[in-house]
Amino acid sequence: MTPTPPRDDTVFDMAIIGAGVIGCAVFRAFVLAGLKVVLVERDADIINGASKANSALLHTGFDAGPGTLELDCVKRGHALYHRIHQRLGLSLIETGAILVAWTEADLAALPGIVAQAHANGVTDVRQLTAEEVRAREPHLAPDLRGGVLVPGEAVIDPWSAPLAYVLQGMANGGTVMRGTEVTGGVQNAGGWTLSTPRGPIRAGVVVNCAGNFGDLVEAIARPSPFEIRPRKGQFVVLDKTATAFANAIILPVPNERTKGVVIARTAFGNLLVGPTAEEQAERRIATVEEPALEALLAQGRRMIPALEHEPVTTTYAGLRPATQFKDYQIEALADRRWITVGGIRSTGLTGSLGIAEYLCTLYEQHFAPLHPLPEPIWPRMPNLTEGLPRPWQQPGRDEIICHCELVTRGEIAAALEGPLPAGNLGGLKRRTRCMMGRCQGFYCTRRVMELCAGRLPGLVEQG
Ligand SMILES: Cc1cc2nc3c(=O)[nH]c(=O)nc-3n(C[C@H](O)[C@H](O)[C@H](O)COP(=O)(O)OP(=O)(O)OC[C@H]3O[C@@H](n4cnc5c(N)ncnc54)[C@H](O)[C@@H]3O)c2cc1C
Repeated sequence: MTPTPPRDDTVFDMAIIGAGVIGCAVFRAFVLAGLKVVLVERDADIINGASKANSALLHTGFDAGPGTLELDCVKRGHALYHRIHQRLGLSLIETGAILVAWTEADLAALPGIVAQAHANGVTDVRQLTAEEVRAREPHLAPDLRGGVLVPGEAVIDPWSAPLAYVLQGMANGGTVMRGTEVTGGVQNAGGWTLSTPRGPIRAGVVVNCAGNFGDLVEAIARPSPFEIRPRKGQFVVLDKTATAFANAIILPVPNERTKGVVIARTAFGNLLVGPTAEEQAERRIATVEEPALEALLAQGRRMIPALEHEPVTTTYAGLRPATQFKDYQIEALADRRWITVGGIRSTGLTGSLGIAEYLCTLYEQHFAPLHPLPEPIWPRMPNLTEGLPRPWQQPGRDEIICHCELVTRGEIAAALEGPLPAGNLGGLKRRTRCMMGRCQGFYCTRRVMELCAGRLPGLVEQG
């Protein structure tokens, strides 16, 4: 085992590159495990990459590849989220999922899907007859052939969770540096000196959590063993009235490449149709295109005909950090004092806590024992979801600024303060839901901008 470098005030035990949901969960885990950790993010705010735009499903792993690291981390992540979400004030909307067979071929695949789920340890998965599916989901098109019930699949708030992980890390002594791109690094006796435009960062171990830039960051330590192939997913968000037409998450029978187009409630009371799966070279920008969105809407309406009359609230797209491999690319390089966490393509929101736990095991195997904090602080997140009380419902509440999403002035003010204030407008939206409703900010932008005046390019270093 390589000895841990001595502590001093300017040296971190660990530097994590990238504050997507993976970096945020890893940051939390290692701070709670007793290390002095810095989380370094290029963008002005956290979760501004792949993690800002996903389906927000907490997966069970029922359909993950048997024996994969992904299966292990998704199952651990699912269990850990259940264990900690209430303490952090995070949502969990236990809708369950129904995988629906629309063709004879789909129907023939169902027993295999149930068998794989059981082999994966998700033993409450069971096949449903067409009548059972219709009884649970009366708005599905009548020509369905049958289905599979996956009780443990759930919906969460995809933004409050990673924010809570970071805030818990900071509350327990971790440091976050935003607006700080790691541009290179040199390994030395004590670990690494990373180069950034804001000066060097010294750390005993570096963790690469750079998402769609994972192979480029990996090249700091070694020729990357994987190549990032960003895979775009476009979505349509339907108005809140559409949620009346789906109880569970409606899944298709998956194919080799993708889990397919899903219909799911959001934690914020809308109904989501998507995503697509489109490979592209561009790593940062995910555009939405009308033909793809029309095709999604057509698929959604084919499955639930009543959606024909439901208006669209908005559309968005995200980029999965896919590679040439199906499984996660996670490795600890003891001699390089480097941990790689790459290719977390389509299950990272769920897998993040499990990956973080797994990395702690790797760290102890390859670097040094960990000494968890005896009594960590547990911050609580404000609720943004529809299922629990929100500030606008409280007696004596202050002015409502965003009338579509019912966001109060106090919520916006709070998001601009605290240990990790919103670093950009996207960060403010993800902390409050302001400007994200039916009018997409048409009515509230001016008031929001007044409240934000001079306060949005957030602080560079906190903690
Ligand atoms: C369409 C779609 C649907 C999905 N649905 C689900 C779902 O329902 N459930 C689920 O569990 N998962 C889902 N996922 C997967 C999940 O969103 C991803 O696995 C996860 O967001 C990957 O997170 P990450 O932290 O690896 O990457 P990112 O979120 O991209 O974070 C990487 C960070 O690294 C930063 N960075 C890069 N280079 C540098 C550098 N040199 N210096 C400093 N910082 C740097 C970037 O700015 C970025 O913030 C979905 C993904 C997509 C796109």
